[in-house]
Amino acid sequence: MTDKHALLDGAGTDTRLAHLGSDPAGFHGFVNPPIVRASTVLFPDCETMATGNQKYTYGTHGTPTTDALCDALNELEGAAGTLILSSGLAAVTVPFLTFLSPGDHALVVDSVYWPTRRFCNTVLKRMGVTVEYYEPAIGAGIAALIKPNTRLVHLEAPGSNTMEMQDVGAISAVAHQQGAVVTMDNTWATPLYFRPLDHGVDISIHAATKYPAGHSDILMGTVSANEAHWSALEEMNTNMGLCGAAEDSYLVLRGLRTMGVRLEHHQKSALSIARWLESHEDVARVLHPALPSFPGHAIWKRDFKGSSGVFSFVLKTDKPADFTPRAHAFLNALRLFGLGYSWGGYESLAVPVNLADRTIAKGPTEGPVIRLQIGLENVEDLQRDLERGFAAVKAL
Ligand SMILES: *Cc1c(COP(=O)(O)O)cnc(C)c1O
Repeated sequence: MTDKHALLDGAGTDTRLAHLGSDPAGFHGFVNPPIVRASTVLFPDCETMATGNQKYTYGTHGTPTTDALCDALNELEGAAGTLILSSGLAAVTVPFLTFLSPGDHALVVDSVYWPTRRFCNTVLKRMGVTVEYYEPAIGAGIAALIKPNTRLVHLEAPGSNTMEMQDVGAISAVAHQQGAVVTMDNTWATPLYFRPLDHGVDISIHAATKYPAGHSDILMGTVSANEAHWSALEEMNTNMGLCGAAEDSYLVLRGLRTMGVRLEHHQKSALSIARWLESHEDVARVLHPALPSFPGHAIWKRDFKGSSGVFSFVLKTDKPADFTPRAHAFLNALRLFGLGYSWGGYESLAVPVNLADRTIAKGPTEGPVIRLQIGLENVEDLQRDLERGFAAVKAL
């Protein structure tokens, strides 16, 4: 693998995705790693068993299949180590449990993925951790919220559903002055379009359920840490008895091979639909970081290498009382866009956005917000489908 690392060092993204984490010579020449299903690993003698001095010791501590995926992710993230967990949500909660103790204070962005907030307001609260939500655009101004017991600062950019951008470098620098750990949910961008660890983040979190899996058939979370934070995370993972599944690791590694080309397609189609919606008479506003009209656009342009397929828009309406019936009429009329949670698969999805949980970043108030995931279908067909939605709203 050493030669390969050197070979891939200066290579382009798609070349790296095609070869990362693969070691055919180690598996009789087969291109892909085997799916190793394992609990027991045998030792040759008691002495080796006593020292644990062999590469694999037990199924929960990793297998050639999970290692292949972790190797690929470490390279993509620039990380010292990666945990594989059973869902994206677990990839948020495990680092929180690793670094937060009773009496600690944590700062969490207000535009956070809603189940992350639910974990903070239930489990962390019960543990005696105080969680304070902050304005996504706060930047270095977060210094005013830092307390002597602030132990963790959590970012997510773009924000869930409303896509607020964050100045990751500025926030990380302030957090580190206080000695706080910086975690970031980077699911939207994937490591191809943003590498959190290069911008001062300590722990990069992904719902691999989304683009890495890519086919709406796997749940997985990944946590990639820098050198300073890796051993504590790994220890927590072992203490809690968590581990990655063999088949799912194999499939996510397979998903990575095509993630670059899929993302390019998602990016192009989503942007073209976002621009079309922006000029649509029935749309009040489009929330997409790559549109120059978007408030966080300058930060996106400065820090990100691309945009993926998820964004939102605000339906035009005159009366607040109209919000729910309009959103429902629009969504119920769609045929190609499925109505369902999650995203990152090949098929397009649309959901109504509920911002009732927000405390600071309240989001648009001029109309109902609809979130779209633009899949791999042809753009013209998707536009025709969205027109069905606008027609249904007009017919109300
Ligand atoms: C979907 C998602 C998660 C959770 O992933 P699951 O695998 O569905 O638990 C976490 N964060 C963000 C930003 C997500 O979009």
